[in-house]
Amino acid sequence: MSQYVARLGNRRGRTLGPFTGTPRRRLGGVRRPRRIAMLSVHTSPLHQPGTGDAGGMNVYIVELAKRLAAINIEVEIFTRATTGALPPAVELAPGVLVRHIDAGPYEGLAKEELPAQLCAFTHGVMQAWAGHRPGHYDLVHSHYWLSGHVGWLAAERWGVPLVHAMHTMAKVKNAALAEGDAPEPAARVIGETQIVRAADRLIANTDGEAEELVRHYEADPGKVAVVHPGVNLDRFTPADGRAAARARLGLPADALVPLFAGRIQPLKAPDILLRAVGHLLDQRPELRSRVVVPVVGGPSGSGLAKPEGLQKLAARLGIADVVRFRPPVGQEQLADWYRAASVLVMPSYSESFGLVAAEAQACGTPVVAAAVGGLPVAVRDGVSGFLVDGHDPADYSRALNRFADDATLADRMGAAAATHARSFGWDTAAAATADVYTAAIHERRRRLRSTHV
Ligand code: UDP
Repeated sequence: MSQYVARLGNRRGRTLGPFTGTPRRRLGGVRRPRRIAMLSVHTSPLHQPGTGDAGGMNVYIVELAKRLAAINIEVEIFTRATTGALPPAVELAPGVLVRHIDAGPYEGLAKEELPAQLCAFTHGVMQAWAGHRPGHYDLVHSHYWLSGHVGWLAAERWGVPLVHAMHTMAKVKNAALAEGDAPEPAARVIGETQIVRAADRLIANTDGEAEELVRHYEADPGKVAVVHPGVNLDRFTPADGRAAARARLGLPADALVPLFAGRIQPLKAPDILLRAVGHLLDQRPELRSRVVVPVVGGPSGSGLAKPEGLQKLAARLGIADVVRFRPPVGQEQLADWYRAASVLVMPSYSESFGLVAAEAQACGTPVVAAAVGGLPVAVRDGVSGFLVDGHDPADYSRALNRFADDATLADRMGAAAATHARSFGWDTAAAATADVYTAAIHERRRRLRSTHV
């Protein structure tokens, strides 16, 4: 077994870091796949992340696919067409093709309505496959439970392994809901349970997520591999530093700038940042003239029901003058927001990894985050930022106060954060994922051989 394919069953009781090292080309005579089908039913890798259904998973798929193509694994990504003007296939990068599948109306279908379109989507995937020679795809890698259902059937029909990444899990989300947030439906729990059984391999972002798969969904520990997601370390860098980024964004040089970036929904708890700032300014009114709170991103999920909710909260808390709402931006510009911030604040209720935490650190900015999900892996408590237990705004306010009190803290922790983030490269993540693929192919062949003797 490759040393890069961590299998939960082999390493109980010890903590594994991210995968490192040089990938091997072969595993027991089995080659890596040449071409894989990647499934992303409900959101396209071509969409702008940071609003609606587009977020970390989109970034994950784009970055992973490009790095896989760079190590000679071609990737075809299947996603649902959401406008009529889309060509059937678009080249995202050399070796990475996005295929648009017609399944239901282009507009007006919420993610919650997509289970009824999975048959149509699968039909589109099968049609695309039927135009090729047998053996066109060596493996199916599905993302999120909706895609897992399509992958289940496709992989079985094509006689190839199914590798699945949950990204988020209904049972985990439901166990830590924000107050008043809607729980995930039972149908999703059932769907996820079926995929856990059907998949040859499950890829988890962290050891914690691997354990959740086992605990909540009875995953076979031997099928679960841990691969930390990466950060685009060329795009997210400290570059010319905080002062220059502030000048470009029109932010005061000496301000305390706690930043929220990402999809605006109760799960991500941007309201806790606003309440913490309200608390801080109540305690220390003299800070008001030097606090700016950018909120970068757009409404998503259950946040769509009240798109103005956060603005109203800022007004109610009496801090509308210090909060600046900005629509989602491309990652080049997001990198400048990270650099400009004194600290990124991520008070999420659940987070399978939290890419923005890793990206901000790569830009030299510390993070204050809730100690949930993957965030304790993404953030080194006391070194690259602070982890906060629970969701009491007063605790987040206290963490912000430390940055207000000590003007050099952001720089000192930011330097440590940049160093820490360098361990999350996409090349490493892609090499580790490729090894998961190879192991899945190897095991399938071994199983087939043993059933034929
Ligand atoms: N993002 C972006 N523009 C924005 C806000 C966010 O491109 O205005 C990207 C960000 O770079 C990150 C992703 O959206 O890669 C969010 O990922 P994360 O894991 O933090 O959250 P998720 O959306 O998966 O819940």
